[in-house]
Amino acid sequence: MKIINETRYSTRTLRSIFTETYRRLAKTEGPHRAWSRYTFRVTYTRTKATSGCAWISGSSAIIRLARNRVRVHLVASLVDHELLHSYGHRHGAIGARWHFGKANEDSHLWATERFGLAIEEKQKPKPAKTDLQEHRYKLTISGVARWEKKLKTAQTRLKNLRQKARYYERALAARRGVE
Ligand SMILES: [Zn+2]
Repeated sequence: MKIINETRYSTRTLRSIFTETYRRLAKTEGPHRAWSRYTFRVTYTRTKATSGCAWISGSSAIIRLARNRVRVHLVASLVDHELLHSYGHRHGAIGARWHFGKANEDSHLWATERFGLAIEEKQKPKPAKTDLQEHRYKLTISGVARWEKKLKTAQTRLKNLRQKARYYERALAARRGVE
């Protein structure tokens, strides 16, 4: 089984929940013919609701999770539901499991007992204050280097112009001397 995880939820945790859900389902449904290459794509839901999608008798499912935090029994029941489609069942046959309600909460208590009430996304690391200071120091250093270069260019240009001025001063003085 493969997981293409496009969220910041831990792939390892998702794998554990998905695998355990499958293991339990396989007790009644038997092994799925394509489990070894079965692919879950985990994305964020565009609505607030966690949802999924799988072909009837397919070998892949899309699991769409809400951001930040998802209740474990919901993930397990969703995976259960999509796997049942992969086993060839349509909604009529899935029956009560179709509804993400109290029925699912009760029948997926094992998931909560095993993995806790909810899974949470890993947070994006915030840059520490020292990192920010380091960042600003680097910006300052490169600013100093940039202006030092401009200063050097200006000094060279000024030196050339002064030499030129002296040349004309001498030339003009010599002409006045001749006249
Ligand atoms: Zn369905």
